[in-house]
Amino acid sequence: MRGTTEPGPTAARRSAQRRYFASPKGKLARIRADVRRSYPRARCTLTLEERESLLEMYDACVYCGRPFSEAHPAMVGHAIPLSRRGDHTFENVYPCCRTCLRRKKDKTMEEYIEYLDRKGTAPTRG
Ligand SMILES: [Zn+2]
Repeated sequence: MRGTTEPGPTAARRSAQRRYFASPKGKLARIRADVRRSYPRARCTLTLEERESLLEMYDACVYCGRPFSEAHPAMVGHAIPLSRRGDHTFENVYPCCRTCLRRKKDKTMEEYIEYLDRKGTAPTRG
């Protein structure tokens, strides 16, 4: 948190906290906390191991098909958005790119694929 000015020993704690939140485990914890705060009814069972195995299973965005890379990192998005009663579970998350995550917003996976088809930006299939 910027702007908090606690003196002394908390500085070390804050930097440990910062390191934690920058780590994959910390990021996941933060996402979970956000999910719980915003969508208290959502199931929230995705583990770090599940998230990692999911990202290993795919080497490209499930929506646009662009391969992941350092410049094009993999993120996980919800097939059924949390805002539409989706859950933060292994069954409901898919690796996608940042662009798709941002564009998809509260569309379901099907709606977003239709949207890509309409725009003609979906990966060529078949
Ligand atoms: Zn994509």
